[in-house]
Amino acid sequence: MLERDRAGRGASWAAAGMLAAGVETEPGEAALAALNRASLALWPEFAAELEAASGVAVGLRREGTLMLALTRDDLASLRFSYEFQRGHGIELHWMTPREALAREPHLAPSLAGAVFSPGDHQADNRALGTALAAAFRAAGGDLREGTAVTGLDLTAGRVTGVIAGERRFPADTVVLAAGAWSATLPGLPPEARPPVRPVKGQMLAVRMDPAAPLLRHVVWAPKAYLVPRADGRLIVGATTEERGFDPHLTAGGLYALLDGAWRALPGIEELPIAETWVGFRPGSRDDAPLLGPAALPGLILATGHHRNGILLTPITAALLAESLLTGKVPPQMAPFAPSRFRAKDKT
Ligand SMILES: Cc1cc2nc3c(=O)[nH]c(=O)nc-3n(C[C@H](O)[C@H](O)[C@H](O)COP(=O)(O)OP(=O)(O)OC[C@H]3O[C@@H](n4cnc5c(N)ncnc54)[C@H](O)[C@@H]3O)c2cc1C
Repeated sequence: MLERDRAGRGASWAAAGMLAAGVETEPGEAALAALNRASLALWPEFAAELEAASGVAVGLRREGTLMLALTRDDLASLRFSYEFQRGHGIELHWMTPREALAREPHLAPSLAGAVFSPGDHQADNRALGTALAAAFRAAGGDLREGTAVTGLDLTAGRVTGVIAGERRFPADTVVLAAGAWSATLPGLPPEARPPVRPVKGQMLAVRMDPAAPLLRHVVWAPKAYLVPRADGRLIVGATTEERGFDPHLTAGGLYALLDGAWRALPGIEELPIAETWVGFRPGSRDDAPLLGPAALPGLILATGHHRNGILLTPITAALLAESLLTGKVPPQMAPFAPSRFRAKDKT
């Protein structure tokens, strides 16, 4: 495994770690919703196995997620999502403001309503990267950090390895999993370039008292989400911006996050800022990942996970491993074949 920087420091570091298979279910994304839910079901066993293999805790928390409405408009839109998601078999509970405040007493008292999703969890995505690298190495994996892939070895139109500077690494199959940078991999012929682009997200974290945290559940407010970690960090996310690889935090971005968070949790204004950062989601044209053979023989894609790559980690690993070992595309992976974009491009 070749990583130009340090493993787990890309979008996987920048994420909030929400495992939001239920509340992320949106109209027109049936196949993705099914994959999200299948991956969520794998998470508890995956986390336990990974923690045992790495000795690193990955912070899986199962308090569930609260979605808030702060105005009458929000309430109408929350009602729509609630009906739609319940229609897809997701367990959700409609709550009065009083019930929501009983669960989270520091939420804005003027709350208009809330929905509780007991099945939407969170994990510590930064610890996840550390744990995966440790488990990979403990299992005998060769992880080379600080090693950028600078080209592909091609023999008779087939990928036969990768080039990193002066070195060549021969391979039966190459998996391209370079997140938002997947389309920019040097040496990739145009027809094999995955239609993946960076979707910029600004985030910040404030510091709560871990002994008396302001919040315990993941909260989706209308203009920001809030994710409390066990160590007292409260993550506030995230902007969604089409600005290429622009690495800058902006006054407007941070203002929008703080304003969105403050409207839901006014007590946030007393808390010290712990960190601010920018990350790049690997966005595809239909927001679903690209999993499976690229247009170039010998090259497999595992990219385009957009806003759900942490959630989709266990199922991506399981499906990729199965397809590499059997040479076949597992049925669950078929809807995410990269060829779906090639077919569209021809029409
Ligand atoms: C602000 C934000 C919030 C998010 N919140 C959530 C969330 O709550 N829940 C969720 O499930 N998902 C979330 N996501 C999405 C999730 O983070 C991504 O979908 C996922 O991390 C993508 O993983 P990846 O391994 O494909 O990409 P990355 O983690 O970006 O990894 C790609 C790696 O490829 C390396 N690389 C690139 N080019 C080369 C090269 N030439 N040679 C060698 N290495 C190379 C990079 O250095 C990088 O380490 C969020 C993302 C962002 C940005």
